Amino acid sequence: MEPSTAMLAKDAGKGLVQCLACRWYCRIPEAQAGNCGVRVNERGKLKLSVYGRPCAVHIDPIEKKPLFHFLPGSTSFSIGTFGCNFACEFCQNWDISQAPRGARTKDPLKWREYFQHLIDMCDEWPPERVVEEAVRNGCKSISFTYNEPTIFTEYAIDVMKVARKKGLRGVYVTNGYESHECWDAIKGHIDAANIDLKAYNKKFYTQLCKVPDFEPVKDSIVYAKSLGIHVETTTLIIPDWNDNEQELKAEAEFFAFVDKEMPWHVTAFHPDYKLLDKEPTPPEILIKAREIGKMAGLKHVYCGNVPLAYSDYETTSCPSCGKALIERRGYDIVQMGIKGGKCRFCKAAIKGVWK
Ligand code: SF4
Ligand code: SF4
Repeated sequence: MEPSTAMLAKDAGKGLVQCLACRWYCRIPEAQAGNCGVRVNERGKLKLSVYGRPCAVHIDPIEKKPLFHFLPGSTSFSIGTFGCNFACEFCQNWDISQAPRGARTKDPLKWREYFQHLIDMCDEWPPERVVEEAVRNGCKSISFTYNEPTIFTEYAIDVMKVARKKGLRGVYVTNGYESHECWDAIKGHIDAANIDLKAYNKKFYTQLCKVPDFEPVKDSIVYAKSLGIHVETTTLIIPDWNDNEQELKAEAEFFAFVDKEMPWHVTAFHPDYKLLDKEPTPPEILIKAREIGKMAGLKHVYCGNVPLAYSDYETTSCPSCGKALIERRGYDIVQMGIKGGKCRFCKAAIKGVWK
């Protein structure tokens, strides 16, 4: 399948094309790629080299994204490509997200040839095929996930144009570095997003993720919500890097300022990729983060990547009467107490997309 022409682009003069998909706003010279490695200036046109070539395709429980207030108990047809606009040292999908960077390091001159070979080895998934398989497998949504979907937004939009006709919803699992132009483009195609706010300190973003700041991510959370997208947030807690209680408090206060009923997932880190010298996050740190969130006024804070013994910390409770509504064991739902978007005990409305 040919790469598609990217719509999130403009001519920047002197043979440069500017990519408008994320906050890097890369100005890309002829025959070069932007920071993510997949958006390429070919004779003055920005091409998406991974269009229609996802390298990861799975059917996942929606709870795995994680999304807890969006079609609970459903499955989501999930796809991801090579490449990312971040270079997180703890990335759990580094083999695909960092593939273009790996190729660049291996051979700075011929890396695109080598990387194209990797793309060509991936099966072709035109939008119609993605939707057909999603429907055939009883999925309620299509998730753009595993690597960063911002970088392949044009493909995601084309998939969703077909998916809409079959009544499927769209999900972004994202680092929140989208430009406003990107959010405006996906408006109406994407119904829900899980946005990572990875830390509330700049050092974490510059040193561990190789991006300048986290303010754009905060802005994305606010902007995506203003477009009517259902938003949940995630923070992977890494001991000594982002478990400072004052920072967690500031982060929780920011979320509470945006929306006290916006779910926050605090999840456990496991050593991976370049960050192998840290222990996995003890559940007690997550429980402390959850308490901090609750103290800030957040109604729904969940601990994730925890052993089954800690499943109670994944329960959705009614913010009004306090009764347990959705009980989970791993990715399974063992009790569902929300009916018609309301608590089945006190009838208070619970924010989310329930059908
Ligand atoms: S998606 Fe971001 S990193 Fe990739 S080319 Fe566009 S602006 Fe650059
Ligand atoms: S943003 Fe996500 S996919 Fe990209 S490098 Fe970081 S953890 Fe990996």
